[in-house]
Amino acid sequence: MPDLPIFLSNCPAYDEYDDEGLVTVYHGEFWCRWPQCHRGKKGFNATNNLRKHVASVHNLAVKLADVGNLTGTEQDAIRTWYDDLIDDQEE
Ligand SMILES: [Zn+2]
Repeated sequence: MPDLPIFLSNCPAYDEYDDEGLVTVYHGEFWCRWPQCHRGKKGFNATNNLRKHVASVHNLAVKLADVGNLTGTEQDAIRTWYDDLIDDQEE
């Protein structure tokens, strides 16, 4: 997993976790949003691993994924979307 592209730190999804009881880690998120967390720069391979990290390391209640696990095809689509986002930024 590459380092978090700097522009993503300005995306709403990468703001600090909100404090409404349950935090949402969106499908396709790989970088921890906790301030100063080293995993904010070194991402996880899977969103589920990020969810476990947020729950256990930062002691936050993480909202469960809406419907089971993503299929491989859905994960590929999300990765493609992120890759395109990054490619667009580098042009
Ligand atoms: Zn963290």
